[in-house]
Amino acid sequence: MMKTLKLFLAFSLMVAVATSCGDNKSEKTETTETTSTLEEPTEVPTEAAVLEIHGTDEMKFDKSVFTVKAGQEVQLTLKHVGTMSKDAMGHNWVLLQQGTDVASFGAEAAGAKDADYIPASQSDKVIAHTKLLGGGESDTITFTAPTEKGSYTFICSFPGHFGMMKGEFIVE
Ligand code: ZN
Repeated sequence: MMKTLKLFLAFSLMVAVATSCGDNKSEKTETTETTSTLEEPTEVPTEAAVLEIHGTDEMKFDKSVFTVKAGQEVQLTLKHVGTMSKDAMGHNWVLLQQGTDVASFGAEAAGAKDADYIPASQSDKVIAHTKLLGGGESDTITFTAPTEKGSYTFICSFPGHFGMMKGEFIVE
């Protein structure tokens, strides 16, 4: 009985929060995180996958596909090999969870300049990301690849870039 009441209260609170939040998208659905219990006999390599990708003044990444092993440590370096400033031609590398609507993520990101275009409202969609870079800069990040095999999408979340600056991150 108490539990039902608590759930009801929690739900009411969520509704209240959702309705009081003016810019809340109606199509935004609350997805329950289901942890995969499938234990596949995949050997996780002990060596990290060392990846490097460049962003250019032509609004392009020089790579469109990466392949890593499930659960592998990844060391990724993003280099902005152009000369344009971060404000005009900033680049980052953002790896998104599967099922993320890239267009709506990009739209939210465009409004998050103060957060270097990594919108806090979408933080559950981000597996890993670099800093936002201007020409000549680079950033190296390390993270653990998802344990769930499949194809993930990476983008640059600078406004207007994800159409051109996008690729596939394959976990096998
Ligand atoms: Zn970019």
